[in-house]
Amino acid sequence: MVSYRFQDLKQTIPIGKIICLARTYKEHAREMNAVVTEDPLLFLKPSTSIIYNHGTIIIPRRSQCLHHEVEMGVILGKKGKNIREENAMDHVLGYLVALDITARDIQSAAKKNGWPWAIAKGFDTFAPISDAVGKTKVPYPLNLDLSLTINGVVKQHANTNEMIYSLERIISFISEVMTLEKGDLILTGTPEGVGEIQEGDVLEAHLGSLCSLTVDVKRE
Ligand code: MG
Repeated sequence: MVSYRFQDLKQTIPIGKIICLARTYKEHAREMNAVVTEDPLLFLKPSTSIIYNHGTIIIPRRSQCLHHEVEMGVILGKKGKNIREENAMDHVLGYLVALDITARDIQSAAKKNGWPWAIAKGFDTFAPISDAVGKTKVPYPLNLDLSLTINGVVKQHANTNEMIYSLERIISFISEVMTLEKGDLILTGTPEGVGEIQEGDVLEAHLGSLCSLTVDVKRE
């Protein structure tokens, strides 16, 4: 079982399901030649893909091309089904910065064939997360700088205010499909600038000045 590492909360909170959104930033949808949809696009990652700050992303033998996607993570603090938008933020416990590591070659083949993305997104180490911060420290979650550098060079840099959907809408929509529970994690999608990572790279992600994450990359 994996748990969050909170900077400011003493409780141990196990990580539940990881619900990821795709195409939530217009410029990223454009760079992928993908259309933005009216409802958010969802997929899941297993909790076994989690690694922490100072962990190592492993390039699996099955992939020749891993991509980085830096994303804001939203941690759920209480159970809810059919959550109304006006109550949605009551369900948030905190935030973190995460990487949605993607085997882009496997995903491209899946897209072409109409297959699910579970393999492309679900390998071990494909969900690095930072320590988490409680929501009281984050009055404006949709006005935070989100950035990723590789070996000190900026690759992705955006603001969460560029996201297409509000957090209220995201939480309400997901809870219409699946019950959200304490400890679930929503990865809210990546802005433009995604690209390949190589063995030996050092990735550093930041969410404002709240959360940071450093990981390196090795081959299996
Ligand atoms: Mg993503």
